[in-house]
Amino acid sequence: AFRAWVIERGETGQSLALREFDEADLMDGDVTVRVSHSGLNYKDGLAITGRMPVVRRFPMIPGIDFAGTVESSDHPDYKPGDAVVLTGWGVGETHLGGLAERARLRGDWLVPLPEGLSPAEAMAIGTAGYTAMLSVLALERHGLTPEAGPALVTGASGGVGSVAVALLEQAGWHVIAATGRAGEADYLKSLGAAEILEREALAGEPRPLAKERWAAGIDAVGGRVLANALSMTRGGGAIAACGNAGGMDLPSSVAPFILRGVSLLGINSVTTPQKPRREAWARLSRDLDRDLLRRMTRTVALDEAGSLAETLLEGQVRGRTVVAIG
Ligand code: NAP
Repeated sequence: AFRAWVIERGETGQSLALREFDEADLMDGDVTVRVSHSGLNYKDGLAITGRMPVVRRFPMIPGIDFAGTVESSDHPDYKPGDAVVLTGWGVGETHLGGLAERARLRGDWLVPLPEGLSPAEAMAIGTAGYTAMLSVLALERHGLTPEAGPALVTGASGGVGSVAVALLEQAGWHVIAATGRAGEADYLKSLGAAEILEREALAGEPRPLAKERWAAGIDAVGGRVLANALSMTRGGGAIAACGNAGGMDLPSSVAPFILRGVSLLGINSVTTPQKPRREAWARLSRDLDRDLLRRMTRTVALDEAGSLAETLLEGQVRGRTVVAIG
């Protein structure tokens, strides 16, 4: 048996406990991993609190990402002792997840621990940072460079936002960090933000078009914030939409698209195929400043992880949270 956070569903709703979990109750998979680190992501907050029905199977071990060492494997690419990283594929939602000392899953979902990153650093980046990188890559693929104008990051003090600010600044962008937390202005500037924008400035009733302010954007918030971000995007610019911390809706119009040629780039980190997945991790290892990564990361023990879900959903957790497990 091993220690795991476990979500159960009963007649009065769902409950969460840190308890012993029998290895025989792990789900099918050709690789078993000794988990050393996991990360806390927005989706873990939703799963643990039950605020949104992201968990599709009970009991569930939450934790949508982890790093660890292969313990046993029938997969041709992995052997015992290999260092691996997992993000996405429904782990922590439909498949037992990473907030545990063991995980068993399909080797096809794993990537080798990127060269140059420790397991702790890989989880400091985690699903959130990896998604920020996918967003940067999408903007680049669109042909955007810092010469086109500033880059907006929304939900900037969160996990996706913090990594996005650091990556964009290091790539030479003038970064405008939008946050609801005025108290985090110094933190965001220390990550590389050139300007701070109050979330309120993007929270009003969206107009079809507004004054052009940025050429690119990475949006973790959705809702009115994304609609306003689109209406303020320069001609030919693009916003990578990767989150919904502020809502699932998009009260926008077609005006930015048809009158300014603005593009909305969708980012889905969960089922990204192996090749672009490994490319994104390689870029993170190459480009992300480790001092900045440390600055945005807090490490907690496994037994502390469960109580942080609510705080995370309230938008009170800054940057990234690593769960040190084994
Ligand atoms: P996080 O650390 O909690 O960051 C979310 C940030 O959004 C908060 O720090 C806050 O930033 C802002 N925010 C929170 N509640 C808000 C509200 N009601 N209205 C406006 N802004 C709000 O979460 P995360 O792990 O970075 O994830 C961010 C989002 O990306 C989530 O929606 C998550 O589900 C999504 N995501 C998607 C993918 C994908 O594959 N597409 C992958 C990873 C994450 P400020 O305090 O600075 O305003």
